Amino acid sequence: MGLIHEMPALPKAVVPGAVVNGSHPCLVLNADYQPLSYYPLSLWSWQDAVKAVFLDRVSIIGEYEQEVRSANFAMPVPSVVALKEFVPQNRAPAFTRFNLFLRDGFACVYCGCGKELTFDHVIPRRLGGKTSWDNIVAACSNCNLKKGGRMLRKAGMAMMRQPTQPSIYELQSQGRRFPPGYLHESWLDFLYWDVELET
Ligand SMILES: [Zn+2]
Repeated sequence: MGLIHEMPALPKAVVPGAVVNGSHPCLVLNADYQPLSYYPLSLWSWQDAVKAVFLDRVSIIGEYEQEVRSANFAMPVPSVVALKEFVPQNRAPAFTRFNLFLRDGFACVYCGCGKELTFDHVIPRRLGGKTSWDNIVAACSNCNLKKGGRMLRKAGMAMMRQPTQPSIYELQSQGRRFPPGYLHESWLDFLYWDVELET
């Protein structure tokens, strides 16, 4: 990689129409090959990814077909890179729609199905139930309707597991069951997911 360090500037020229600003996002993995974050999904612009390759901070794991080119240089645009140095993840996970669904494995906590997932306040709001990790669960719209804003016992329903605040590690191990290919579809819904749940 010695040569790369000596390059004076990053290539600006790209294949016209193929690689433009905002296209070709690159998924960033930690040194353990897990995404640096699931929510928001750790993505870099292709420019940042190429820069990190030049600085020798990342290994290239996957590539797009398109290339970036300058006069004396060409390389495929990285689609997945892994950091060479591990970044510890000590923070608490953000309380978001995505992380909540991830905690519950994209399945209804009452019946286990994954159809038309919504959120349910286990203790209903009108009875003082909070919007928090331990009172919000993923629920299918059928169960949500059936529960109808009542306490579980009144509705004759039960949860498959008690909701608690997950650690980053728990979310990451859940994330392994839903690898980036699965998550990719949710990029389309990025604005929807990009909302912290109100507490
Ligand atoms: Zn259900």
